[in-house]
Amino acid sequence: MTQKLNTSQFTQLTLGIPGFEYKDLYDAKRLADLLEVFDQSVQQHDADLFAEISAYRACAGEGMKPEDISELLVRMAPLVGTFVARLFNVSDVREQQIGTIRGEFDAVFVYRTEIVGKLAGRFKGQTIEGWDIAQLNAQLNALLAATGKQSLFAEDPELAVGQLGAELWRLSQQTDLSDTDVAVLKSQVSEQPALNIAYDSAASLIAGLLDVVCRWSFAAKQVPELQAVVAKWLSFKVPEKTNLDNLVEHASVAQNGYDVWACDEHHHRRRDGFALTDKRFNQRQTLYEVDHCIYCHDRDNDSCSKGIKNKKDATFKTNHLGALMTGCPLEEKISEMHVVKRQGDNIGALAMIIIDNPMCPGTGHRICNDCMRGCIYQKTESVNIPQIETNVLTDVLFMPWGFEIYSLLTRWNPLNVKRSTALPYNGKNVLVAGMGPAGYTLAHYLLNEGFGVVGIDALKIEPLPLHLTGDRENPPMPIMDFQSLYEDLDKRVMLGFGGVAEYGITVRWDKNFLKVIYLTLLRRAAFKCYGG
Ligand code: SF4
Repeated sequence: MTQKLNTSQFTQLTLGIPGFEYKDLYDAKRLADLLEVFDQSVQQHDADLFAEISAYRACAGEGMKPEDISELLVRMAPLVGTFVARLFNVSDVREQQIGTIRGEFDAVFVYRTEIVGKLAGRFKGQTIEGWDIAQLNAQLNALLAATGKQSLFAEDPELAVGQLGAELWRLSQQTDLSDTDVAVLKSQVSEQPALNIAYDSAASLIAGLLDVVCRWSFAAKQVPELQAVVAKWLSFKVPEKTNLDNLVEHASVAQNGYDVWACDEHHHRRRDGFALTDKRFNQRQTLYEVDHCIYCHDRDNDSCSKGIKNKKDATFKTNHLGALMTGCPLEEKISEMHVVKRQGDNIGALAMIIIDNPMCPGTGHRICNDCMRGCIYQKTESVNIPQIETNVLTDVLFMPWGFEIYSLLTRWNPLNVKRSTALPYNGKNVLVAGMGPAGYTLAHYLLNEGFGVVGIDALKIEPLPLHLTGDRENPPMPIMDFQSLYEDLDKRVMLGFGGVAEYGITVRWDKNFLKVIYLTLLRRAAFKCYGG
């Protein structure tokens, strides 16, 4: 019996762009209308930028320099982020994300670059011998108290010290610093007896206070008690040397009469049933990687995307192990995405990824790393691009309506000038055999070109609930909270969709991402999927 969809209990999603309803997001004609509204908004915001993007669309990049395309996309991405956030009424969440990410860069990563990274030069030829570490600690604590960062220090010491160091460093860079600029700080410092710093001007006060932070940081690299405090701070992390002959560090240990290779204890991930063993990087770890990147696209040198080539014949080079350094097989705009992520705009960054990698839930962390092999850093740790890509995706998915935002960007993406909106059904149908990564990606591209697609797979494929997929008459129920789709891997029933990504990968990879792709495709009216 055919199931009937009861839409009366559906979560409602009212779009923030007048004249559009949720169901329009599944209608090719209305998607084209939405692009027009977006274009008008760009034109109003910046007519010159609109003229540039129009010219880019008209030529589809033919004859343009890669650097110019990259620069244009980086300028456009925030406008896509702003528009999509307005469409889903999540501008406040987007702003919060921007604030948090920029706050991290302005504090932790300024501290990392300007203070921790320059300690060797600042204290050249010096040691901490004779330094009173207890007094130094007391001075840092007094400085944290004077600047109102003590409770932040208790919660997130790296952020507190990072903010303190970065604020003082910025003040130290001002050439016209006056007594008025530092009046509040001066009075707060005067209440802290531990900060008995001699000064005769605003600049010397700041220099004295900055010196406390610098000396404490220098000591933190050497004194065990302080080393323990900063052990996990990303601001103190230095990229390790890459040893291609010993990529997985290990030692031989005797076990049951045999010599076995074992890795360091801190790399162990104990398996508990089928629960996810790798929770991915947190935000700061991800931002460390973004900060590690030197954004090579403005020199057309982004080898993570384009590969490392021999100058003579433009063939790909091989590394010491003989592996080709092709960069990302999709030529994803990685460097550009990093710049947008650095600005805090996850939606804009995701739109950048989706230009070349619309099925990105099936890539990223634990799936592929050709990009890392092609990264400009060949002698030290390369940028962990897959972690960044997956972090951008999850930052969007876990926003309110995050699944809907991802799903829309696969059908409507102004940054993708070659196919900005999905085309209407053209009456021709294609059979795609195999619903693994190649098959589902092909299905997506065919659907966007207007074909009907029937996907088949040898595995038994479970259907998804009708309220999630919608039917001929009704759009699906919009998903407000991605958690409602999310399942613990040890409780998850295999859906059968995803081929090797479903049966061939263990609990190191979060298979909830497969459901994201499966549902995104099942919601397309011209797609049907059958298992064996
Ligand atoms: S990931 Fe590596 S190659 Fe790519 S832009 Fe960053 S530094 Fe350059």
